[in-house]
Amino acid sequence: RTVYLNGEYLPENEASVSIFDRGFLMADGVYEVTSVLGGKLIDFDGHAVRLQRSLDELDMRSPISKEDLLEVHRELVRVNEIDEGMIYLQITRGAPGDRDFVFPDPETTTPTIVLFTQSKPGLADNPAALKGMKVISIEDIRWGRRDIKTVQLLYPSMGKMMAKKAGADDAWMTEDGFVTEGTSNNAYIVKGNRIITRGLSNDILHGITRAAVLRFAQEAQMEVEERNFTIEEAKDADEAFVTSASTFVMPVVEIDGVSLGEGVPGRVAPRLREIYLEESRKAAI
Ligand code: PMP
Repeated sequence: RTVYLNGEYLPENEASVSIFDRGFLMADGVYEVTSVLGGKLIDFDGHAVRLQRSLDELDMRSPISKEDLLEVHRELVRVNEIDEGMIYLQITRGAPGDRDFVFPDPETTTPTIVLFTQSKPGLADNPAALKGMKVISIEDIRWGRRDIKTVQLLYPSMGKMMAKKAGADDAWMTEDGFVTEGTSNNAYIVKGNRIITRGLSNDILHGITRAAVLRFAQEAQMEVEERNFTIEEAKDADEAFVTSASTFVMPVVEIDGVSLGEGVPGRVAPRLREIYLEESRKAAI
């Protein structure tokens, strides 16, 4: 596999980063995951815009222009022959000569940028989407700026492990009883023809897939309500689902051992998945 590191295309085993990199020492970095379908990028623009916002919020400069970034994504897809899969992009504040809490001078320390591909044949025809996911609920104990897509993923990682131990597929996090989001996705419930999801704030990541799905839902005459909902309300819903760049729309059929509806994917989530895949393929670049 060929990867991209600071302006160079390299075999993955020849790409290395300093032990003083602040991404490594302090999780001082941001990332994006863009999916690839039919060798094309899904919503590259959305990811590029959110990346710039994450960098701005952390006072970090981008080491690359948006045009060059697109070129790197395309080149990696080409050389690694990715038909379906993901591109992971990470920018960290770089490696000053020593460990220090104070941000280094951006004139002397340039950010580290890494991109690599992950081939996932069958990403769109994922059999998991037919079965639906089981989730457990856990307390959301993350920091207060979840809108910034940082590489601080320890708690989401622990959440997935808690889910796995409980025989579930993922965890939904709650704060004051209200669902914030999944460990790596946005969370939704469905009541009748209405889709309910938490509104945007610093409490959740502003999902790129979320924005697209809500737009498609409205275009398909479905009702969308952006508001907080409790885990109890979720257990009582007709359907539930999650969205993310790597899973698109994924039905949720069980919450904390409680089956939703018939305990199988309902009507709305599979339909939204279909629309999302169709529209995204059309708009892919
Ligand atoms: N919330 C969290 C916490 C996430 O990690 C992700 C995926 N990275 C999402 C939501 C979904 O965002 P997107 O649709 O942009 O992948």
